[in-house]
Amino acid sequence: MDSKLLDSLHAVITRGKPVPVEKVPDPLEPGEYIVERVQEPTTCPKCEEGIVIVDDTDDRFEIRCHNNHFETIPTADRLRYAPDLNQVLATVADDLNLTLTSFDGQSLPRFAQAETAHGTLLYLIYAPRNYCDTVKQIYEDAIERGQPALLITPQDEITDIVELQFLFSVGHLVQAVPFSKLDNPALLKQTLRTAEEVENLGQDIIEQRFGASQDTLRERANTNPRYILSVLSNIRMLRENGEIKPGSGDLLEQTAEAVFMHLFPTQPDRGGEADSGQNLPDNVFYLWEQGSYKHTDYEPVLGVVDTKSGKTANFAKEKASGKHDNYLDLARKHSFQHGSVAHIFVVLDINGRQEIKYFDRIKEEYAENMYMVVLTLDALTTIFAAYLSSVISNELKLGSTSFTRAIYPFFHRDTFNADQNTDLRRQFRIVGRSQEGYQINLLERPDLLVINQDTVITHFRNIIDRDAEIKEILGRYFK
Ligand SMILES: [Zn+2]
Repeated sequence: MDSKLLDSLHAVITRGKPVPVEKVPDPLEPGEYIVERVQEPTTCPKCEEGIVIVDDTDDRFEIRCHNNHFETIPTADRLRYAPDLNQVLATVADDLNLTLTSFDGQSLPRFAQAETAHGTLLYLIYAPRNYCDTVKQIYEDAIERGQPALLITPQDEITDIVELQFLFSVGHLVQAVPFSKLDNPALLKQTLRTAEEVENLGQDIIEQRFGASQDTLRERANTNPRYILSVLSNIRMLRENGEIKPGSGDLLEQTAEAVFMHLFPTQPDRGGEADSGQNLPDNVFYLWEQGSYKHTDYEPVLGVVDTKSGKTANFAKEKASGKHDNYLDLARKHSFQHGSVAHIFVVLDINGRQEIKYFDRIKEEYAENMYMVVLTLDALTTIFAAYLSSVISNELKLGSTSFTRAIYPFFHRDTFNADQNTDLRRQFRIVGRSQEGYQINLLERPDLLVINQDTVITHFRNIIDRDAEIKEILGRYFK
């Protein structure tokens, strides 16, 4: 949808009621995105008093008002124009390469709902009397259907919606989008993918193990994601929409820390924005298995985390010496002789192939047991969604003994590069031009791990497919 069309539709949707023809903004015309309807007169054109309609024909209304004026109002004066929400949602779906299969306007005015061939639901808020109640109704509807959904609001901010998600614990299932962001299909696709991929993976597992109709289990699996996941999966949109202001406390950093605290033993409040200017990483965690020190397969990993909350990680401006070498030095000294040190960057997006250039500059500072991990927000969200989903995390535990072991390759260089994981390194980010060159460059740098959503999904699927035997054993108990 181009921005002029978007602005005009946004205006008529925000207004929330049909308007006379002179108030229909360009380039909208009746028939296209706009429907014409006749609105019965309710007031007297002379005195504004209430009226009764005495007679109406195809081209006029005869009215009498409470002050006893008898008037004729031409039907043409009562033509009003409202947005065609069906067509609006069809266009949104089209921009996302989805096909609309049904449109439901029964809940108007409040919201319109549409289904796509893909299974994804689209909700569009229109003229609600109570905004928050409407958002809640949409959540209830989406939860009941158990399908990933995009919630489009005419309001410019989504903070209210993200806060409401907390009440519903829907986590990744419903993704909120301001109408004004609909001209960015790439952003929307990204937003939807997180919801869909996790949902699909969960669904596949349930079907494989228990057959197709397992509503109770499915419900249980969907009700446990929590607030962190809601925030995490909405960070990109909050950032794009300017709702995370620079210097307003770093939401990505705090949320990423909360995630790492769930997943691993961490050292909270280790540094970050609160100490900005000092030579401390955002947070530090340890990835180990109790009593596994002698298993070289699972040597301990010290994770030194830096979050990059800008729209795109500005690796070009990131200094390779100073802050980083200082705390990498600390990590080196602090007794990690028999383990690995992962220098981890959590990022929203990366411009071009900047992570490679930055890696080339900083690698001089790394000791033998150090390497760089670039973890995209979508990858982190997917890992955490899997962790919170009882069904998926249980499957991952069956496949790898523990959740930590399941995600170990993302944080451990040698495991990531091991023969059984070759397909992980081949899940490349899309960098646009010179994609092939980028891929070659990355393959030439075993000390740089770029973990994106595809890497995570591919790995999880590998683990789950591998454990057919364990499933068979468990299956006997379920008979
Ligand atoms: Zn009157």
